[in-house]
Amino acid sequence: MNCRNTIDIITLGCSKNLVDSEKLIHQLELNGYKVTHDSENPKGEIAIVNTCGFIGDAKEESINMILELAQRKQQGKLRQLIVMGCLSQRYFQELQTELPEVDRFYGKFDWKQIVTDLGGTYHKEASNERRLTTPPHYAYLKISEGCNRQCAYCAIPIITGKQKSRSIEDIVAEVESLVAKGVVELQVIAQELTGYGTDLYGKQMIAELIERIAQVPGIKWIRLHYAYPANFPMELLQVMKRHDNVCKYLDIALQHISDSQLSAMRRHITRQQTYDLIETIRNEVPGIHLRTTLMVGFPGETEEDFKELLDFVKWAKFERMGAFAYSEEEGTYGAENYEDNVPDDVKQARLSKLMRLQQQVSEEVQQSKVGQLLQVIIDRKEGNYFIGRTEYDSPEVDPEVLIKSPRPAPRKESLRPGQFVQVKIESADEFDLYGAALEIKN
Ligand code: SF4
Repeated sequence: MNCRNTIDIITLGCSKNLVDSEKLIHQLELNGYKVTHDSENPKGEIAIVNTCGFIGDAKEESINMILELAQRKQQGKLRQLIVMGCLSQRYFQELQTELPEVDRFYGKFDWKQIVTDLGGTYHKEASNERRLTTPPHYAYLKISEGCNRQCAYCAIPIITGKQKSRSIEDIVAEVESLVAKGVVELQVIAQELTGYGTDLYGKQMIAELIERIAQVPGIKWIRLHYAYPANFPMELLQVMKRHDNVCKYLDIALQHISDSQLSAMRRHITRQQTYDLIETIRNEVPGIHLRTTLMVGFPGETEEDFKELLDFVKWAKFERMGAFAYSEEEGTYGAENYEDNVPDDVKQARLSKLMRLQQQVSEEVQQSKVGQLLQVIIDRKEGNYFIGRTEYDSPEVDPEVLIKSPRPAPRKESLRPGQFVQVKIESADEFDLYGAALEIKN
């Protein structure tokens, strides 16, 4: 049997799940538990899996992790197995029947109950506090839960329900407490960032929120994720221009470009409006790096639709891009109204063709940085290299900068995580940049 009073928390899925896990870890530690967050090295007698349930692969990964831990329990290495998060939020009854090895299931929002069910006390006064599992210099900042959109392929609203924005005061208070802990960089996240505030303030308030966060002393970089293209709040671009600490970076999922696909996906935006939006963003915030997500193989996608998508990617030159093949999700509008009629081999062929095109774009983008002097934040050291990111790189998903140790003269001390350093970019491959540190900023 593993360590008494030790709990292993395993987080699957997205950074929004990670924030929940970090808050749960803090509450359990306040109750005297020792908590680990390393699925590779389980140590505890209790395991809590924070699951993901939004698409097939993610569900499979969650189930496999639960089964792996159930086996450890059968081997007597685990006393209790607890499951929480999106998979159990979505399939609560089914999972209880199919996985009797699991002691207790919780959803996505009642994880606080875990603390009391384990005999502890939930500390409401510390509800904004968390134990960071990211490197201490950056944190994910979740500004709302849920989503009011109804994209035809997406199960997230089924799992998370309607959008619930946190108040600006509550978020700014959390930012101040994160700064006090040494955080200098924030990854701002939500299910749908640009809708922030419509439920609480009756209108989009993302620009006001980022304006307030940008004024918190000590925050050096604020990076925005999960923006939605329809009724995009243009005032947000003015905030980006006004503040150096708001990264010239925007993650905005576009999914497709052809009018027939955009309307079938229920994205509430047209082909022309999308072109205009990208043009406006690039004109308003010169040098901005755009990350997007595209989907191929959605029901009804023709060769012509796909060709439009390739032309759009050639024109838009997204600095960062992820792409997926459509997978039908039960309960979604798409599953209930469309036949999944694009054959798998066609989906995969379109996906690889799209990613090959993007690889060329990404290579051009990275090569264009050779010779430039860029501000880099150091994340870690690996071998003879320090690994960092520019303001155009979000952790885990975007390229990195590999820095040779700084020239000895004139400074002796080497670099450390959380430090900003000026780097001369000397070379690039299709993904990462390589360079030398010239001047240490802080
Ligand atoms: S906006 Fe995002 S989270 Fe919301 S329904 Fe659409 S794809 Fe899903």
